[in-house]
Amino acid sequence: MTEQQQQRDDSACAVDLSASALPESTPNAEVFTTTITSAEPESGFAGFGFSDALLRTLADKGYSEPSPIQKAAFPELMLGRDLVGQAQTGTGKTAAFALPLLERLESGQKTPQALVLAPTRELAMQVADSFKAYSAGHPHLKVLAVYGGTDFRSQISALKRGVDVVVGTPGRVMDHMRQGTLDTSGLRSLVLDEADEMLRMGFIDDVEWILDQLPEQRQVVLFSATMPPEIRRLSKRYLKDPAEVTIRTKDQEGKRIRQRSITVPMPHKLEALQRVLDACGGEGVIIFARTKAITLTVAETLEAGGHQVAVLNGDVPQNQRERTVERLRSGSVDILVATDVAARGLDVERIGLVINYDMPFDSEAYVHRIGRTGRAGRTGEAVLFVTPRERRFIRNLERATGQPIEAMEVPGNTAINQGRLDRLRKRLSEAAQAQRPEADEQALLQELMQRVATELELSPEQLAMAALNLAIGPDALLRKGDDDWIQNTRRNDRDRDRDSDRQSGDRRERRERPARAPEENMQRYRVEVGHRDRVKPGNLVGAIAGETGLQGRMIGRIQIFDNHSLVDLPKGMPEDVFSSLKSLRVMNRELQISQAS
Ligand code: AMP
Repeated sequence: MTEQQQQRDDSACAVDLSASALPESTPNAEVFTTTITSAEPESGFAGFGFSDALLRTLADKGYSEPSPIQKAAFPELMLGRDLVGQAQTGTGKTAAFALPLLERLESGQKTPQALVLAPTRELAMQVADSFKAYSAGHPHLKVLAVYGGTDFRSQISALKRGVDVVVGTPGRVMDHMRQGTLDTSGLRSLVLDEADEMLRMGFIDDVEWILDQLPEQRQVVLFSATMPPEIRRLSKRYLKDPAEVTIRTKDQEGKRIRQRSITVPMPHKLEALQRVLDACGGEGVIIFARTKAITLTVAETLEAGGHQVAVLNGDVPQNQRERTVERLRSGSVDILVATDVAARGLDVERIGLVINYDMPFDSEAYVHRIGRTGRAGRTGEAVLFVTPRERRFIRNLERATGQPIEAMEVPGNTAINQGRLDRLRKRLSEAAQAQRPEADEQALLQELMQRVATELELSPEQLAMAALNLAIGPDALLRKGDDDWIQNTRRNDRDRDRDSDRQSGDRRERRERPARAPEENMQRYRVEVGHRDRVKPGNLVGAIAGETGLQGRMIGRIQIFDNHSLVDLPKGMPEDVFSSLKSLRVMNRELQISQAS
């Protein structure tokens, strides 16, 4: 072990970096440098103990500086330490684990030394390609990608010839291990890449099975964009005293922003919006809408409801835009309704709530939108409106921000009334602490109060109540009346959840519910596993995605019955994929897939 490595080993193990994605990573590097060691090399990849061959390869690839996650991970992984990393794609996480793993390989071993598990065939191929590229200086090194949907035989013969690094999807790796074609007895390192995605796709049991078979002495590295409790549990159980590295991208600063989503059918969106504002609004609010026309409709509705609203869209001339932002900043309006383009770069500290009235066009737009709140060290809230059909996109947004988006219900009258009372209490406390700007006015008002109290023989409480009534105005403070439609929406929501909840559900109810026709572009298939096999939708999604290379979200509705299940898959499945699915085993039973009548 070099002296530098020893020094790094003595450093703090938990590193939490707030960093931008590649390549502009240097501004935050200082944070790490001071934490780690004063002997940190001035720049580049030298000093991590990498071979000259690798340094040349990196230079040839045009990498001049390690990214923050690489700086944090290299010293730990070069020492053979376990590591948990929370980082998204684009941070350089693949090289963060690939380079140390490659450098620690020993020559002359016939069986694989490193195994990387990835949730999808695409990622497995991508990671294997990265390993190949980084090992350009060691042409004798063999890297193999193994995943479902392709021929076993060629993988088996490659494994027989000898492989150093295997990158694969859990299902296929497990199959190879079970049939003895992948020997893990000499494995020194295992990487779980995108662990949360493997969990979501139902691979977690397979991953645990694989982990249970590995040699006692091995290094385990776990990367995940988010850290749900299941992944934390996995890490606790299988990793030994891991170093922890968290990379947050600059734009999202997700930790300070609480993100929630509300499922609202299209016709109820405006009503739901008013309710959310009523229950959660207060400080500055930005509402994002997809088109100029929608910004106007929303603004008109809110104005009619008594809100002070400004609009920012492409039709608003530049000079007026600045005035609008100023009004929001100064508090003369509380609500801004904007399109994405118009609100780009908007930096107003007092934005406490961002409402995504319409789904953003992509996850990048979402990250930008919610970045309008939680500024200058404050906390912020973001609420996303989704129609029932849009719910499937939530997962992409969670991955983009690395944070969960909690489900929220349309606020009912009780929540709204609580919000109104809270705001009134806040206004009252603030007013009680404030002085009137003009001292003689204050004196006049005191005199006026005393006069009214004497004339009407009022107690101080009665007088205070009269002042409160004056502040509230003539309309009722609390909302009463019918909020049945919310109950109905919630009920539909729950039904839908049961429908698509791929982990649990009430079997009997499912069995009795008549099946809706598959969506356009989807074909319904029958597979011969059901409740009797204890199959869960997650098992089917995981197995089918692994075998076909389909992304999990492309797999549609799944209905499980006692002896079989129905699965909606995109139309036009190629013949060879269809036949590979026929013999695919899930819960120890062949799917025997067929088109459902
Ligand atoms: P990843 O987050 O692993 O998907 O990597 C994102 C991209 O950054 C990939 O195209 C890598 O080739 C590239 N990359 C990784 N590390 C560096 C680095 N230190 N300098 C420049 N590019 C890098």
